[in-house]
Amino acid sequence: MIPDSFIQDLKASCDIEDIVSGYVKLTRKGKNLVGLCPFHSEKTGSFFIYPQTQSFYCFGCGAGGDTISFLKRIENLDYAEAVRLLAQKAGVPVPEDSMDDSGARLKARTLEINRETARFYHQCLVSDVGKDAYRYLIERGRTPKIIRRFGLGYAPDDWNSLVDHLKSKGFREEEMVASGICGRTKKGGLYDRFRGRVIFPIIDLRGNVVAFGGRAMGERGPKYLNSSDTPVFKKSKNLFALNFAKASKAPNLILAEGYMDVIAIHQAGFDNAVATLGTSLTEEQARIIAQYTDTIIIAYDSDNAGQAATKRAINIFSEVGVKVNVLTIPDAKDPDEYLKKFGPERFQMLLEGCTNALEFEIAKIRNKYDVSTADGKVSFLKDFARLLADIRNPLEREVYLTKTAEELGVAPAAITAQINSIQKGRKNAQAKKEKNDTSIYIGDIASVRKDMDRKRNLKYAVAEEHIIEILMKNPDYVPHFIKQCAPSEFVTEVNREIVTLLCDRIQAHRSVEPMALSADLSEEAMDRLSGILASETIQRADRTQLDEYIRILKEHGQQRSEQEIRDMDPDEYLRYVESLKARKS
Ligand SMILES: [Zn+2]
Repeated sequence: MIPDSFIQDLKASCDIEDIVSGYVKLTRKGKNLVGLCPFHSEKTGSFFIYPQTQSFYCFGCGAGGDTISFLKRIENLDYAEAVRLLAQKAGVPVPEDSMDDSGARLKARTLEINRETARFYHQCLVSDVGKDAYRYLIERGRTPKIIRRFGLGYAPDDWNSLVDHLKSKGFREEEMVASGICGRTKKGGLYDRFRGRVIFPIIDLRGNVVAFGGRAMGERGPKYLNSSDTPVFKKSKNLFALNFAKASKAPNLILAEGYMDVIAIHQAGFDNAVATLGTSLTEEQARIIAQYTDTIIIAYDSDNAGQAATKRAINIFSEVGVKVNVLTIPDAKDPDEYLKKFGPERFQMLLEGCTNALEFEIAKIRNKYDVSTADGKVSFLKDFARLLADIRNPLEREVYLTKTAEELGVAPAAITAQINSIQKGRKNAQAKKEKNDTSIYIGDIASVRKDMDRKRNLKYAVAEEHIIEILMKNPDYVPHFIKQCAPSEFVTEVNREIVTLLCDRIQAHRSVEPMALSADLSEEAMDRLSGILASETIQRADRTQLDEYIRILKEHGQQRSEQEIRDMDPDEYLRYVESLKARKS
């Protein structure tokens, strides 16, 4: 267990505003701060930071907590790791023996293995065993300098040169398998996963080597092979070269299709290029990008697959509120080839003149139909209206509508009518969906279930939350509260968890500030508590108010119908009986 005193020290030495602003762009709003929530997709900010309570809460998805909960979520860490990271950021030493950190230890070992592996592969590339791979890179136009900067490597074409090397460095077999770069044969021996490949190390924002991509040299096997997910790496949450691009002075980021393109673009002097890791863009990656820029330039290959991927990416970016520009690459199949043929200056011009996402989409559907025929024109206009119906800005819509109507020789009013009818249909469908949708949380099934619990017992849940709010503000009311009401009488599961911990800690004279609670509360409970604190519904938080809410809560036990009692699960029934007893005594 982590001592309270340590958490107090840690709390005193960091400010939630400083920590969160490293991830989210925040603007001041009165005494609080607001930004776009990093945990769900949104275009207007509902993610609030409360410096006074050192907590955060999102009114969109219900995520909330303190600095530690924030780091846990955004960095995908467990509690001990988040405390460690926070301590590191604040420069406070962690009392080492006080934490259970087997998970953290495995991660640390995996990172050591990765670093050693990257070093080994790079050494191979620049030595005799890698000379073909080195020549291949040079022939593709890479310079020795960029090879060093990206730490490129070569995995020798045999089954155990890495395994042997790591063993000689004292790493254990289980650690090597967990790191994902060695596999285990049916007979139990170890083998190298990357063989005869050029290696691209993937480095996270903290400078750790977290994974590897490998490109085949010959025709054997898949062209690209990537690390699978490990304790330190999730493919869907990382981007290649973001460690460099985040420091770029360019006002935007360039998203290219593969490692080689990214390296070529960096080599040409554009240090703002990134790529996904052998998979198509995920929403998580788009959200990461949104933290660094509000405009992305998509520079995918000019072939059909690249264009289809561009279309997908446009949709994902519009979900997270990132403006998209599409780079059209004439007379070359990808940025790498274009740079080789025409050089950086021409590429710069290309970047400046790239079309926006809407123009790209319009050109695409125009290519789909033959607009010189009446049929083709009708089909095109149908798709076109659907496209424009997505655009929120009426001015922007008007510009493209007028332009296209003129080009095709149709009345703008006809297109407008179609757009209106599409928008109306969507609005109805949305209203229907919202009516049927009873959950506010986007989270997992468990949190949805807990949320249902709150909805079903809304009257009591609200009373419970007021009680929690009053007790948080007035810890000295706790003895008075406990005399009248046992924490087990709370109706909803999440609030019961909160009030139980609250009472326990106050009775043990321990702190009940949000920062101190996040160690012992479940994620759902922390979300709820932050919500309660963020809403601050009660003006007058006195004892009379407290008694009134307790009275409301007490109604619950009396009002249970036979049917309700029959539906109770055994735990719930026991609690019910206990609450009846508590009332009688
Ligand atoms: Zn949110």
